[in-house]
Amino acid sequence: MRGLLIEAVVAGSLADEQGIESGDRLLAVDGHRLRDLIDFHYWSDAEPLLLEVAKPDGTVWECEIEGAGAEPLGLMFQPPQPARCRNNCVFCFVHQLPKGLRRPLYVKDEDYRLSFLYGNYVTLANITRGDLVRIKRQRLSPLYVSVHATEPELRERLLGRAGIVPILEVMKELAAARIVMHTQVVLCPGLNDGSDLEKTVSDMVSLYPRVASLAIVPLGLTSHRSRLPALDPVTSEYASDFIRLWQPRSDQLAHDLGEPFLFLADEFFLKGGIPFPSLSSYGDFPQLENGVGMVPLFREEALRVVKKARQLHPGHATVVTGFSALPLIEEFLLQLSARTGLVLTPVAAENRLFGPSVTVAGLVSGRDIIASLQGRGLGDVLLVPDVMLKEGEGVFLDDLTPADLERELAVSVMVVETSPEGLYAGLKEAFRGKRR
Ligand code: SF4
Repeated sequence: MRGLLIEAVVAGSLADEQGIESGDRLLAVDGHRLRDLIDFHYWSDAEPLLLEVAKPDGTVWECEIEGAGAEPLGLMFQPPQPARCRNNCVFCFVHQLPKGLRRPLYVKDEDYRLSFLYGNYVTLANITRGDLVRIKRQRLSPLYVSVHATEPELRERLLGRAGIVPILEVMKELAAARIVMHTQVVLCPGLNDGSDLEKTVSDMVSLYPRVASLAIVPLGLTSHRSRLPALDPVTSEYASDFIRLWQPRSDQLAHDLGEPFLFLADEFFLKGGIPFPSLSSYGDFPQLENGVGMVPLFREEALRVVKKARQLHPGHATVVTGFSALPLIEEFLLQLSARTGLVLTPVAAENRLFGPSVTVAGLVSGRDIIASLQGRGLGDVLLVPDVMLKEGEGVFLDDLTPADLERELAVSVMVVETSPEGLYAGLKEAFRGKRR
């Protein structure tokens, strides 16, 4: 198929005025053929803008649009079809999924375009010369790079694949073209820690400021690793030793570089039972989506919410979460209970789908919640954080819905935003002016 399929056109927009409709295809902008969304954005700043559009019946016409620089065209496209990943990373979470989940969950993507558009991490192991030329020419920056190790042989072992261009060569080329990169290391105890991690970190520092940040995150192991290499988990002891060694290094680097650079994932602090560093040591939170700084940010927001919380109509609510967030939620609900007068019960759902070592709230399934909460007094309402549901689809990982929970647990279920504000907003909705 040529060009980009137009999914929707905003009513009254510049494109709508020209008679462009959903189902049409945008073939070219200012004479430049379009491969994907990135090309569209790259060529769309001409004035006036010349669009070549095809109708579903094959009719092609051109239209000239004035004023596209001042207001959006109003075109919405499908995201690019991602390239498939050809790695076999020893720690890949997709390889450790149980059978029987939705098919898209088993799809492995590895596409630099999605890294630029949506911040997805990529190893760049499948990058071609043509891709590199395009990244540099179109200035696709920042990119998000999974480094894991800079020593080539070790990296190939981690990625489960031979013949990969050494990552440092690729990154040096991108850095020379002033492409900014945020990077990560998935830490596998005994594999890429110790002196290998020292080398990886110093190689990344050598590319600062083009390498703008480096996050170290622990590997995730599920109970479904049959026929996969044996890996050591990050235990509480390992996590606390790791923080004691690497947090001072992170502080020193922040001092030397003048801004935070090396970030340790929240999970290390939670597992190791070690206090988090100050909020300011996270800078502008460049690795938040990677689970770095979420807990301190939650705590800060929780303080604000507790301060403004008001007495609500008496009642009892249960809040479900994962084991790793339980202490945090307990701490918040205790304070919120004192301010609102509500009885608030936090409960962690055990992860039976992936196994008990998976403790994050985002991987709890509907059946896990039912199994963990059945037979308990849940009060007037069960609050479910939206991180447990697939965005835009309202279903849990196992395709159960909040309505299934209501039926099985005989309690009304409310899905709330996964934040202190979201939890408080849900409680206000449930208990403000409630008549009992
Ligand atoms: S890059 Fe590695 S971890 Fe990511 S999808 Fe591919 S195999 Fe899995």
